[in-house]
Amino acid sequence: MSSTVRTAIVTGAARGIGAAVAKRLASDGMQVAVLDLDADNCADTVAAIEAAGGKALAVGANVADEASVAAAVEKVVAELGEPTVLINNAGITRDNLLFKMTVEDWDAVMAVHLRGAFLMARATQKYMVDNKYGRIVNLSSTSAQGNRGQVNYSAAKAGMQGFTKTLSIELGKFGVTANAIAPGFIATEMTAATAERVGASFEDYKKVAASQIPVARVGEPEDIAHTASFLASEGAGFVSGQVIYVAGGPKD
Ligand code: NAP
Repeated sequence: MSSTVRTAIVTGAARGIGAAVAKRLASDGMQVAVLDLDADNCADTVAAIEAAGGKALAVGANVADEASVAAAVEKVVAELGEPTVLINNAGITRDNLLFKMTVEDWDAVMAVHLRGAFLMARATQKYMVDNKYGRIVNLSSTSAQGNRGQVNYSAAKAGMQGFTKTLSIELGKFGVTANAIAPGFIATEMTAATAERVGASFEDYKKVAASQIPVARVGEPEDIAHTASFLASEGAGFVSGQVIYVAGGPKD
């Protein structure tokens, strides 16, 4: 393995899974661009990385916006280095049953997950191809298999899997791998908001979820960070086009 210091971009890294992934990649020796809608919200993640002796940069960008993505990637190249690791983690939910779902809620979810991952991958692939090295990890979900109230989100997360497989086919010969992680229930603000929406306390909601998970607990952001660390590592160069379900049981 070489000792090259890699530059990683983690989207949606102000909190939750993205923050845990950013911290983990930094502790693996990468310099990390902590990207989220508002750069100020990235301060905690950046501070945690720096306190542990790592190097990080806060980047404010909307992954669904082409110009914003271009500016963000330029900033990373100028201030950290050419990005050869990309974690497409930014995400939103806009849950509703089909008959109540608005076009705005459909489009918003497609824009952040699918258009966002596409724009970020397209803007960074040049650096990966030039360096003959790249690791792309896309966040899918067990909801890709279908989930009541999430017709938009499940379609987007299934789309992330096809997107990932095609990236792996197109970019493989340049030393670039692409894989997806499909988490089950992970305790973050996203799942806390779902609990609130259905009128349950987060503790009760997690207990019910855990009772349906074979390993008898809900996931933590660090569970996903561990898997992302493996897929983003140099040693994982022969693993590509895969979807790894990290759900405490066989969810696929
Ligand atoms: P989270 O706590 O809601 O964090 C998501 C982050 O993404 C937030 O910081 C959010 O910023 C940011 N973001 C949203 N839209 C963005 C945009 N257009 N551009 C840049 N950043 C944006 O979510 P999480 O639970 O950590 O989830 C992370 C990823 O894992 C998502 O893709 C999610 O779908 C997936 N996932 C989560 C679970 C779970 O159980 N938690 C399960 C399966 C898959 P703001 O705070 O400013 O909105």
